Amino acid sequence: MPIPFIDLQSQRQRLGQPLEDAILKVVRSGAFIMGPEIGQLETALGEFGRAPHVLSCASGTDALVLPLMAWDIGPGDAVFCPSFTFAATAEAMPLVGASPVFVDILPDTYNMDPASLDAAIEAVKAKGELTPKAVFAVDLFGQPADYPAIAAIARKHGLKLLADSAQGFGCTLNGEHPIHWADVATTSFFPAKPLGAYGDGGAVLSKDPLFHDLLVSLRVHGQAVKSDIEGKTFEHDPKYLNVRVGTNSRMDTIQAAVLLQKLTIFADEIDARNRVAARYAEGLSDVVRTPTVIEGGVSVWAQYTIETENRDGLAAHLREQDVPTAVYYPIPIHKQGVYSVYPTAPGGLPVTEAASAKVISLPMHPYLSTDDQDTIIGAIRSFVS
Ligand SMILES: *Cc1c(COP(=O)(O)O)cnc(C)c1O
Repeated sequence: MPIPFIDLQSQRQRLGQPLEDAILKVVRSGAFIMGPEIGQLETALGEFGRAPHVLSCASGTDALVLPLMAWDIGPGDAVFCPSFTFAATAEAMPLVGASPVFVDILPDTYNMDPASLDAAIEAVKAKGELTPKAVFAVDLFGQPADYPAIAAIARKHGLKLLADSAQGFGCTLNGEHPIHWADVATTSFFPAKPLGAYGDGGAVLSKDPLFHDLLVSLRVHGQAVKSDIEGKTFEHDPKYLNVRVGTNSRMDTIQAAVLLQKLTIFADEIDARNRVAARYAEGLSDVVRTPTVIEGGVSVWAQYTIETENRDGLAAHLREQDVPTAVYYPIPIHKQGVYSVYPTAPGGLPVTEAASAKVISLPMHPYLSTDDQDTIIGAIRSFVS
């Protein structure tokens, strides 16, 4: 039987009847939209991720767009982000009319290079065509970006800092979650993410109550929220007062019910992922380049990504032995047609381009058995030697 790349069925079996009961409870209640599980999930996510405010929303992509809307970022504005990431990171900017500016990564962690970020901001300022507004750092493959360094640069230039933690929800640096440094942290509950739902979903974690209030309004068509109506009187129910242009980005109650169940085992799953990662490193670090995690960081291992010169040969060899692999990401975003029009950091993105030619990700999930892992390790060793 082929080894699964991600095994959601073992997790479902572990969660058992309570998971199915939780889904059925929503079905029977009829509260499909904004049912009580939504608020319960937002509270639980805030406790887990140590954030005072959490907004659930329709996807990890919307979780990136909603803060841009709340900050009123749009045409003529620049938002700095890595190019070595999933397209959604950079897609959020054009969706509000703003421009992404691509920054290079560090060769060891694949996360944003603070020096490249600083140089890119200086270059955009010097050119004077775009106004720098925000930085989107990404917790790629599950590990935290270098937030102390990135936050210092964002602060120096007066920019907002958002942590795109779609792959990294639960990761820490020196015991702190990304929101400790960032103004906003976002995540995705796409099923294959470390904390995934049974459909789409996302969340925005934040620290400022007024900003959160604005997100609540934007999530439901710009409806008037507490801060809009306080101290005022209305002729009609202010529920149908739309005070800004928003969107519909509600998460389904069923997804919240699923996530509440999954959160109960998430810390344990992160530990299990770290055991799998440690075992890979032990079995492979002398024959391929295994991942480096930032000092003081704990990854949630969305991916276990190695580097090798003959990536295609290795993938074919592993496929023959029923071991699946994947390449994240073969084409950096700044090399994709529609994104190639946007600026890059001075000197281009050589580290990004080199990494995209060499990386390959191995099966990674909390339920990977030691036997299956030995098969994978053995297959890689037999190819390399
Ligand atoms: C998955 C992902 C997103 C988008 O999440 P969706 O829920 O699929 O919209 C954004 N950023 C990164 C880094 C991702 O991996």
